[in-house]
Amino acid sequence: MKRRKFIVGAGVGMAAAPLAAPAIAQGVIRWRLASSFPKSLDTIYGAAEVLAKRVQESSGGKFEIRVFAAGEIVPGLQVLDAVQAGTVECGHTANYYYVGKDPTFAFDTAVPFGLNSRQQTAWMIAGGGQQLMTELFKAYNVVALPAGNTGCQMGGWFRKEIKEVGDLQGVKMRIGGFAGQVLTKLGLVPQQLAAGDIYPALEKGTIDAAEWVGPYDDEKLGFNKVAPFYYYPGWWEGGPQLSAIVNDKAWDSLSADNKSLFISASWEAHAVMQARYDAQNPAALRRLIAGGTKLRAFSPDVMRACLNAANELYEETSAKNPLFKKVYESWRGFRNNQIDWFKVAEYHFDIFMNQNATVTRRRT
Ligand code: CA
Repeated sequence: MKRRKFIVGAGVGMAAAPLAAPAIAQGVIRWRLASSFPKSLDTIYGAAEVLAKRVQESSGGKFEIRVFAAGEIVPGLQVLDAVQAGTVECGHTANYYYVGKDPTFAFDTAVPFGLNSRQQTAWMIAGGGQQLMTELFKAYNVVALPAGNTGCQMGGWFRKEIKEVGDLQGVKMRIGGFAGQVLTKLGLVPQQLAAGDIYPALEKGTIDAAEWVGPYDDEKLGFNKVAPFYYYPGWWEGGPQLSAIVNDKAWDSLSADNKSLFISASWEAHAVMQARYDAQNPAALRRLIAGGTKLRAFSPDVMRACLNAANELYEETSAKNPLFKKVYESWRGFRNNQIDWFKVAEYHFDIFMNQNATVTRRRT
């Protein structure tokens, strides 16, 4: 009841402004949302369902969004194209899938050796990220809103161990986003595959390695059955963001009330996705290890070689792409400030808690 009252109140408050689309406001709005993800992943696919459910409930059934899984009406890696063309009104995707169109898309999701989950959200909301990215999304006729994060990812599943930089040579790996271009510099052969296509490729041997997200999803996708070594960290995805994207004409057709609803629902999806991953990963990791998965950390030498290759790529890309350069320079300054702050309280708190894990678990 209270929520209804609030929405009615908000509508009255905005009555002075002209209604964007009074004809639509009187009927039921029915939108289609194309997700880049399969239904089996209740975390990442589930975020779009959280968004749709909230919009439907809060509008009293006047604004319906039907969610379609990857491949149902749009292939998982073509959600941006479908939303840009207006084939569907909106989508839920990782915008770094589109770095082939413009590498600047990576900043909306994750850039190697970049921000953790909280820092990504901070950059977006309070660090100028959303404004900076608007120029790019406008050029593709979409409005983008943060709508999920996985937290720091794992480094993926390998058939053989990666002990030194040379071991990356010739490895065919499914890897998301801009990281593929970093690893190409070290001889790895990257492939971008949608979630549902990874397992068959790994099983058949079309690829030698694959990363997706982390224990909870990776266990569901079955990677542990075909590759024994599970590496960490996913240095290319310290806190990758998922986004809701909306065709700009569809967005403009919404009333101010419905725009506000959609924005709020996206933020709910943003928080719920991260919460589900954080809550469900520990048990999944324990099950994987009990089942024979061998955990391995990337060595500092491998990580440093990747960091150097990443920095080289950022300089090369900045020289060719002025928008990338503009976003990168702001993003890099923000990241460096975040490192300076997080290394004080957060880092020391985390280190202490980890070093004293046995004490924290002891019952007194
Ligand atoms: Ca990933």
